Amino acid sequence: MDEKKYVVKKSDIHGNGVFAAKKIKKGEQILKYLGEKITKEESNRRGLEQEERAKTSGEGSVYIFELDDEFDIDGNFEYNDARFINHACQTNCEAENIDGEIVFTATKDIAEGEEILYNYGYALEHFMRHPCKCGKPGCVGYIVAVEDRVKLKKILARMKKKKFASHK
Ligand SMILES: [Zn+2]
Repeated sequence: MDEKKYVVKKSDIHGNGVFAAKKIKKGEQILKYLGEKITKEESNRRGLEQEERAKTSGEGSVYIFELDDEFDIDGNFEYNDARFINHACQTNCEAENIDGEIVFTATKDIAEGEEILYNYGYALEHFMRHPCKCGKPGCVGYIVAVEDRVKLKKILARMKKKKFASHK
């Protein structure tokens, strides 16, 4: 990964995004999630700290990425371009742990100029806090893991029914 395969620029989905600077083939490594390797304990501490900061400053971004059962990566650093990768319900890359590093790898051929998109896969229980505005066909409206989408649809359908019932 010597030559950069991507550029960071403004995205229609959210803030800045990461875009393919040239054609990227399925299976190719695109970029790494760089940062500081920290324990789960430290990770929780930083997460809570950031939540507190967000309450006062409105600056809400947390850039902690799960590495394995023991460690996370805090990627809140200028040099970590991967922190700009946006979530979408339809993605073109996946994150793999390769020798203790998080590497984003293309899951399909990506055209030059296409935005690099990854599924953040947040836990279902707090889905209301993470609306999705990806605008992709099949967008489920919230940022959840692919395997939780069926469950989410059921919850949303139930909520809709309740709403109708209460309007009668
Ligand atoms: Zn979406």
